[in-house]
Amino acid sequence: MADRRFWNEQVETRSEDEIAALRMQKIRRQLAYCHQRSPYYREKFHGAGATPQDVRTWEDFRRLPIFLTPEEYKAQQERSASEDGHPYGRILCAPLADVVGVSSTSGTTGRPTLTPFTRRDIATTDEVLARAFWRMGIRPGDTVLHAFGLSVWVLGIPAVRALEAMGARPIAVGAEGGTERLLMFARITRPSALLCTPSYAEYLIERAPAAGIEVGELGIRRIFCAGEPGAGLPAVRDKIERAWGAKVYDFAGGPWGIASISCDHAEYQGMHLLSEDCCVHYDFVDPQTRQPIEVKDGTIGAAVLTAFDWDAGPPVKFLLNDLMQIHLAPCPCGLPGKRRRILGRIDDMLIVRGINVYPAAVRNLVNEFLPRVTGEMRIVLAEPPPRAAAPLHIRLEHAAGIGEGALEDLGREIGTRIRDRLRFTAQLEFVRPGTLERSAHKGRLIEKGYRDA
Ligand SMILES: [Zn+2]
Repeated sequence: MADRRFWNEQVETRSEDEIAALRMQKIRRQLAYCHQRSPYYREKFHGAGATPQDVRTWEDFRRLPIFLTPEEYKAQQERSASEDGHPYGRILCAPLADVVGVSSTSGTTGRPTLTPFTRRDIATTDEVLARAFWRMGIRPGDTVLHAFGLSVWVLGIPAVRALEAMGARPIAVGAEGGTERLLMFARITRPSALLCTPSYAEYLIERAPAAGIEVGELGIRRIFCAGEPGAGLPAVRDKIERAWGAKVYDFAGGPWGIASISCDHAEYQGMHLLSEDCCVHYDFVDPQTRQPIEVKDGTIGAAVLTAFDWDAGPPVKFLLNDLMQIHLAPCPCGLPGKRRRILGRIDDMLIVRGINVYPAAVRNLVNEFLPRVTGEMRIVLAEPPPRAAAPLHIRLEHAAGIGEGALEDLGREIGTRIRDRLRFTAQLEFVRPGTLERSAHKGRLIEKGYRDA
């Protein structure tokens, strides 16, 4: 059993036709369920002049002008807390008595967002997380050190529960346990896998020697990273893999049956979708007009999430603030599944002569020129975003030992690829390696060339 390639082979290897047929069947059932059970969704349908019965095809579904934004998601929870006697939101479709699990965002920056689970929702979460754990090589009987915040959303307690459900042996120290305790538990229990944020994996590299050990001596061979970009950035991934002597996997998911994980390919290929039977990951819209955009290999758009195997508080057309890219072509690793990359937040978008430009997409493109560049770059703005002047000023580090002539060629190649793929013109300014400040905040790609108002 342990040498199987998949946790759930029958589901994970479904053909595109099977996925599409199943998806429409489930979407129609879920829309009817939400309409029937939630006053919030009934109002939404009513406001759009639509009923669930109007949605017969995938195109109908994509055109359905109903959106749940992160602000609305919060607001409907506040409203249910004051009017309905529970804080789980007006999108709650299951009877309150059936809500047997709750996870939440951290609540450190304001009112936490709560996610209720029924027993079936817990089973769905166990199932899709098991698929991800299996892909990265975790097997029943493996000891797994858990170092995400235990109270934090789906990778806290729900991930611990999912490891137990699949037969693995989680050691749930959590990020709250602190570094010393985490290292002590690692020494005593000898885990073969670790779950934590990429920045915590990096931090432990520096901190372990003070506790008299190097992270590479702990015997951890697989690291499951999530919660922030990092594991998908070549420089960060290399650093963690070398120091720990482990393979790093990048995961993105959440409640509602969302799950995707990167593969073993030497170059980062995005994250394979693992749960097209539970939710829609790539119903893309234009972030400004909210109109559906055609989804092709490599398409970038605002991700709209709909769960269709979820009882408690299921999202319908949840317009996330994530900018996503989808890859439909087969992955060179040989495993099935479309892949997605999370490119950043939609709030970061720039508009250059009417073209939407995403700083993270520019960084990904520049990274394709490693090792001739270091990967460090900044977009220098002369005025406050989102509007930016053309050509867009990009300052980037070339690698050590690149001569004048080679630099000119490199600049031409990068400029051409930016124009072809991202459809804007760039003014590239090369600087020496090490010139740009290394920031702890990895997402910082913009340099303000203007004063704040
Ligand atoms: Zn792959």
